[in-house]
Amino acid sequence: MAQQATRVSTSHELSTPDIRDHYPEFTQRLEARRAELLEAVRTARANLDEQVMDSPGDVGDESVVDTNADYFLNRANTNQRELVEIGDALERMHRGVYGICESCENPISIERLRKLPYARMDVDCQGAAERRNPLYRVPPKL
Ligand SMILES: [Zn+2]
Repeated sequence: MAQQATRVSTSHELSTPDIRDHYPEFTQRLEARRAELLEAVRTARANLDEQVMDSPGDVGDESVVDTNADYFLNRANTNQRELVEIGDALERMHRGVYGICESCENPISIERLRKLPYARMDVDCQGAAERRNPLYRVPPKL
C-alpha cells in the first residue's frame, strides 16, 4: 500500500543537526500518514457496517461475523491510537519541542524520526520505558 510518493533527497549530512530545520519534512510526513489513517478508519467502519448489515442471521455464521468485526475493530483501534500519536507529534511541532526526547531531552535522530515520525523518545529511552511498562510500546512498526 501507499508507498512514499516522493523521493526525499538522500542524506545531506548535517554537522550540527537541528531537528527544527526538518520540521517541514516531518509535518508533511505526519500529515500524509494522518490522511492515510483517516482513510483506513473510514474504510474499516464501512467494512464493519457491511459485516453487520450482511449478517444473514444464520446462527452458524455468527462466529465468523464476530471474528471479522473484532478484526476491523482492532485495526480501527490501532489506527486510532496512531492518530492520537500523530496529533501529539504535530502539537509538539507547534511548541518547538518535536524531535526532542521527552525523557533525556537529547535530540532524536533524524533516521529514527523518518521511521517513526511520532517518536517521543530516542531509542535508548524508548527501550528503557518499554522495559518498565509495555504500554509505552508505540503502535506496530510500519
Ligand atoms: Zn532520551
